[in-house]
Amino acid sequence: MVMAASPRKSINTVFRRVGVSGFGGSSQKRAKYEVQDEDGNMEMEQIGAERTKNVLILMSDTGGGHRASAEAIRDAFKLEFGDEYRIIVKDVWKEYTGWPLNDMENQYKFMIKHVQLWNVAFHSTSPRWIHGLYLAAIAAFYAKEVEAGLMEYKPDIIISVHPLMQHIPLWVLKWQGLQKKVIFVTVITDLNTCHRTWFHPGVNRLYCPSEEVVKRALLDGLEESQIRVFGLPIRPSFCRAVLSKDDSRVELEMDPELPAVLLMGGGEGMGPVKKTAKALGESLFDDKLGKPIGQLVIICGRNENLANTLRSLEWKIPVKVRGFEKQMVKWMGACDCIITKAGPGTITEALIRGLPIILNDYIPGQEKGNVPYVVDNGAGVFTRSPKETARIVADWFTTKTDELKRMSENALKLAQPDAVFDIVKDIHELACLRGPLANLPYMFTSSFSDLI
Ligand code: UDP
Repeated sequence: MVMAASPRKSINTVFRRVGVSGFGGSSQKRAKYEVQDEDGNMEMEQIGAERTKNVLILMSDTGGGHRASAEAIRDAFKLEFGDEYRIIVKDVWKEYTGWPLNDMENQYKFMIKHVQLWNVAFHSTSPRWIHGLYLAAIAAFYAKEVEAGLMEYKPDIIISVHPLMQHIPLWVLKWQGLQKKVIFVTVITDLNTCHRTWFHPGVNRLYCPSEEVVKRALLDGLEESQIRVFGLPIRPSFCRAVLSKDDSRVELEMDPELPAVLLMGGGEGMGPVKKTAKALGESLFDDKLGKPIGQLVIICGRNENLANTLRSLEWKIPVKVRGFEKQMVKWMGACDCIITKAGPGTITEALIRGLPIILNDYIPGQEKGNVPYVVDNGAGVFTRSPKETARIVADWFTTKTDELKRMSENALKLAQPDAVFDIVKDIHELACLRGPLANLPYMFTSSFSDLI
């Protein structure tokens, strides 16, 4: 067994006490070591023995989609492999580095509020030499910090679910001589027009959600053998048994009879949510009959101002206004259609639940391609007009129920509910294929050995 100490600690201290305590009798050679760090803690491992593997998932809360995918992968690992893997979801940039890496959330929020700024930033950084230079400069500046951030978790597998988390970690693994030990995979969480920083030829696997993304990856130098197409990873609760619509409505205290529309704008509550909500408040009330023809659920995500404003309004129809919801699967399961910006996470979840989608906005660049993905496949429509949106929903709930049903069927055809399980199983296979070097403790394989 080897007691591995923090890589930052002096190796002399680490080896204050090392003792070979035994050899296994099996065909697999086993050596037991004990190592004590300067705090006196002891952590033991058997070299060559089966042990829990550490999986570090790199994400950032720029939008809600990266965290949702990271948590989906974490949960699927637990369901499929139990304690075989220890999963750590981290924004390593935020915790270990300085500006601009540690402030990506705020920069992203600012830019998508000034959407033309984001448009310029997205397209001007697309050429490889531009983002390559930028990321190389940052990597050189924060090399030690990133290294500490990654190595603290002694990962056997690193999974990036963020477009800015390929280049720098892969360089660090190279500098550390850890490429043969640590598996690095990228899971792309944009459905179509993704940024080129997602693509790095040094990855062991690239998981693409669609064939369109595969085409882009091949153009950017990835080999077919590196690529797998399973779909976008969605939380297992969406794919496995869920409550019926009736049960969900009871649990969520919704009207059991009235058709329901879910209105949202990603994790940040973006897009024309307020205007659309007001227009729906009118269109879903039948003035002649003096009663509602539908009900409305508005999920505002982290946009608390929006939630407070909407709660203060008077409504003629049943309305539920929610902040950041952890039970999206129930809310989607209780509704009959959804209105959202073209966020890939929300779209993929809605497809799995068979919800026809009205796309009312998109972030330029990465979300633009999601519009034809939904519309051309007959799973929804696109309009930026709140009034038009409200009219379409009212029609779907009254005179055009056939259209609603057809779109729901098309949505289910596009859905790939097993994607997250296919991804974790493939990563597991990669881990099984790794040679004995992968089972050696960090201190014997990384360049920390140069401290000896
Ligand atoms: N989401 C959530 N709770 C909320 C709002 C959003 O869990 O209150 C989730 C939503 O289900 C989806 C993700 O956040 O998985 C949003 O991702 P998407 O790609 O649609 O948009 P983003 O927020 O990344 O721009």
